[in-house]
Amino acid sequence: MPTQRFMQWGIVASLFASAPLAAQHGPLTSGRITAAPGARASGFLEIPAGVDEATRIPITIIRGARPGPTLGLIAGTHGSEVAPIVALQRLRALVNPAELSGTLLIVHVANMPSFLGRTIYYSPVDRKNLNRMYPGTSSGTVSQRIAHAITTEIIERVDYLIDMHSGDGNESLRPYLYWNRMGENARVDSLAREMALAWGATHVIVDTTRFPDRAKAVYTQHTAHLRGKPALTTETGYLGQPEPVMVERNVDGALRVLRHLGMLPGAVEKGRPVWLGRYEVLTSPETGVWHHAVERGHTVAEGAVIGRLTDFFGDEIAVVRAPFDGEVMYVVATPAMSKGEPVAMVARR
Ligand SMILES: [Zn+2]
Repeated sequence: MPTQRFMQWGIVASLFASAPLAAQHGPLTSGRITAAPGARASGFLEIPAGVDEATRIPITIIRGARPGPTLGLIAGTHGSEVAPIVALQRLRALVNPAELSGTLLIVHVANMPSFLGRTIYYSPVDRKNLNRMYPGTSSGTVSQRIAHAITTEIIERVDYLIDMHSGDGNESLRPYLYWNRMGENARVDSLAREMALAWGATHVIVDTTRFPDRAKAVYTQHTAHLRGKPALTTETGYLGQPEPVMVERNVDGALRVLRHLGMLPGAVEKGRPVWLGRYEVLTSPETGVWHHAVERGHTVAEGAVIGRLTDFFGDEIAVVRAPFDGEVMYVVATPAMSKGEPVAMVARR
C-alpha cells in the first residue's frame, strides 16, 4: 500500500461537510479513498475555468488519531516564496498522524499560476496579487477564484491559520512575522499573539490595519481573523530560494505551533521577540535600475542610504533613504525597478 493516498475534491468536501471535526472524529470513507483518524490524504482542490483558465491547489489533510483543533498552513500565496513550499513538503512527511491530535490542513501551493510562471507579487494570468483578493469570489478572475476557494474550503474549516510567506523572488528578507492587533476581538488577538510567541519569531510586526468588513478582508490573515480564527502571516526565506536554514525555520515554527496548540506532544519555549510597532514600506520614486546599499537585517539611521536608482545608462536619478532609525526587514536585491514598487521595508519598536 502506498502511504500516499490521493483524494478527489469530493472527498475533501465530505470531510469538511459539517462541523467540528473534534465532535465527529470517526473514520471517513468515500469511494475508494478513506481519510480515517490516524490517516493522511493528499489531492487537489480544483478551480474550474471561468473568465480565464482553470487551476488547482494541492492540499494535504493529516487527520490525527485523536480529536483536537484544526490548524491550516498555507504556502505559495506568492509563487516565488518557496522556502515555505519546500518546508510544508517536509512537514507532511514529518507529522505522524498516529501522534497527532486534531487535524492539520496543508495548502502546498496556493497560487499555482504564480509558482509555475515564476512571477513575483502578481499572477501571470490576471496580474492580480492573491494576498489582496480576499475573501475572493467564484465569478472573478483566477486569483479571485483561488481566494474564494481558500476562504470557503480552508479558512472556514480551520480553528487557527498561518499564511506562510517569505521574501519574494526579488526580496532579501530577514525572518519576521505579522501579528494583527485588530482590536475587534480581544480573544483572537490574544490567541494569535501566543501563536506568534510559539512560532519563535525574533521580530514581530504589530499590524493594526483594520478591515472590519468581512466582504473586504483583503488579506488571507485578516479573512481568518475576522472569522474568529487566530492567524499569523509569517515571513521566512528570501530571493526565490529554498535556502536550507530558512526551510528549517519554517518547519520548526510549524512544529512549535503544533505543540503549542496541543496537537503534538511536547512543550514549547516561547520566544522573546522584538515588537515592531512602526514600519514603512519604501517605494521607488522612478523607473530604472536599482542598486541596494544595505542588506537584510541591517540597522540604519534616519537618512541612511537604502539604495540608489540609476537610469538605464548608469546615471543616478534618485536616492532612497531610511525614514527613521530602524532595521531593514527586507530590501529588494535585484536591479529591475518600476516607479511605485517597493524597494525596502524598515521597522522599529
Ligand atoms: Zn508574500
